[in-house]
Amino acid sequence: MNRKEFIKKSLALGIGLPLINLFLDSCTSDEGIDFPVFETNFSGKVLIVGAGAAGLAAGYLLHRYGVDFEILEANSTYGGRTKRNTSLANFPIDLGAEWIHQSPSVLAEIINNPEIDATLDFIVYNPQSIKTYNSGKLSSINFGSNYYSEHKFKNTSWFGFFEQFIVPDILPKIRVNSPVTNINYQSQKVTATVNNTTVYEADKILITTPINVLKSDLIEFTPKLPSDKTNAINSITMGDGIKVFIEFSEKFYPDILLFGGVGALLSDSSEKIYYDAAFRKNTTKNILGFFCVQYNATPYTSLGSDQEIIAYILAELDEVFDGKASKHYLNHVIQNWSKEPYILGSYASEFDGDENAIKNTISNPIENKVYFAGEAISIDNQSTVDGACESGYFAVETMLT
Ligand SMILES: Cc1cc2nc3c(=O)[nH]c(=O)nc-3n(C[C@H](O)[C@H](O)[C@H](O)COP(=O)(O)OP(=O)(O)OC[C@H]3O[C@@H](n4cnc5c(N)ncnc54)[C@H](O)[C@@H]3O)c2cc1C
Repeated sequence: MNRKEFIKKSLALGIGLPLINLFLDSCTSDEGIDFPVFETNFSGKVLIVGAGAAGLAAGYLLHRYGVDFEILEANSTYGGRTKRNTSLANFPIDLGAEWIHQSPSVLAEIINNPEIDATLDFIVYNPQSIKTYNSGKLSSINFGSNYYSEHKFKNTSWFGFFEQFIVPDILPKIRVNSPVTNINYQSQKVTATVNNTTVYEADKILITTPINVLKSDLIEFTPKLPSDKTNAINSITMGDGIKVFIEFSEKFYPDILLFGGVGALLSDSSEKIYYDAAFRKNTTKNILGFFCVQYNATPYTSLGSDQEIIAYILAELDEVFDGKASKHYLNHVIQNWSKEPYILGSYASEFDGDENAIKNTISNPIENKVYFAGEAISIDNQSTVDGACESGYFAVETMLT
C-alpha cells in the first residue's frame, strides 16, 4: 500500500484527520524488495560514491556478482542517514532511520537470506497513548492505537543491521574520510578525485549522495551534468531534519505527542513528533525521542548550538507538561542532519513536477558510465532505508545487464 492508497483507506476507515499525517510517514507498506537475479559478463571496475544504505547495498550486490569495486565515503564511518548512539541508553538509539516502514521480512529480502528473520527481534510499534497539543490544550486521541502499527528493531538498529549483515562482506572496499570533489566522465574511463588530490579510476561510477549534496557545489562534474539531470535534481525538495533523544528521571509524557490542529497535521510533508523512544525496549530508562523534518524542523536546525537546541526543546516541553521537562531532565543527544556537511537535510519530500518522471530522469545513466541511486529516486519506497537499498540494486542491475 503506498501513501496515496493509505490516505484513501484511512479516510474510508474513518480515521480522524489529525492522525493522518502521522500515518502517512508511518504506514506499513507492502512493496517488498526483489533481490536482483541476472546474468552479466561485465568484467570492469565500479566506483560507488557514498556508503549509506544505497551505496552499501550496491556494494553488497557487486560483491555477490564478483565485480571489482570501491566505495568512497566522505564521512569517517559508513551508514549515512542510518547512525547509532550507544551512550545515552542501554539500548542502541537510531539517530537517523528508526522505523521499519514495511513488513520486517523486507530485511531478509534486502540481503536475500530468509534465515535472518530468526536472528532479529522486532517491536510491534503501536503506541497506546497519543496526545495532541494545540492552542495551549493537551488532548488524547484514543482511537489511534487501533489503527497505527508498524515495526522497530528491539535490540539492534538500522545501522546495526548493515553492520551485521552487509558490511562484513564489503568492509575492505570502503574508503572512509574520502570526500569526492570531482567526477570526470569525459574519457572512456571515469575518475573520481578525493579531496582534490587522490584520483580513483573505473569503468563506471554510481553516485548515491543525498539530493542536497548534488544540488550543492561539493562535487564538480567534468563535463557538467546534462541540463535535464540538473533540472530534475533541482526540482526535488529535501528539507531540514533533526532528531533529539532526552533521558528523564520520570516518564511524564505519552507514547506520542503531536502538535497543532487539523490543518497543520494534514500538511503533506513536514512532521514534528515527540515519542517514547524506549517503547517496548528492554529498559527501565525514560528516553523521549524528538523527530522533526522539513519546514517544521528549521526553527530547531537553524539554532547556533546544541545547547540552544536543548534549551528550546525543554522550554517547549515545559509549556506542555507544566515544567516537568526541566525538572526531570538528565541527559540528551542531538543529531542535526541539516548541519551534517555531506547530508545537508532530511530526505526528499516534494517533487516539483511528475514525481516518477523526475526520478527516471535522474536514474537514467549518462553514457553507460555515470549512474545514480539513493532514497530520493526509489520509485516505490522513497524516503526509507529499504527504498535506498532498492535504488542501489536497481542501478547495479542496470549497470551490469
Ligand atoms: C531524521 C531522519 C529520520 C528517518 N527515519 C527513517 C525511518 O524511520 N525509517 C526509514 O526507513 N527511513 C528513515 N529515514 C530515511 C533514511 O534514513 C534514508 O532514506 C536512507 O538512509 C538514505 O540512504 P541513502 O544511501 O540514499 O543516502 P545516505 O544514507 O545519505 O548516504 C549517502 C552517503 O553519501 C556520502 N557522501 C555525501 N557526499 C559525498 C562525497 N562528496 N563524497 C563521498 N561521499 C559522500 C554521505 O556521507 C553518506 O554517507 C530517516 C531519515 C532522517 C534524516
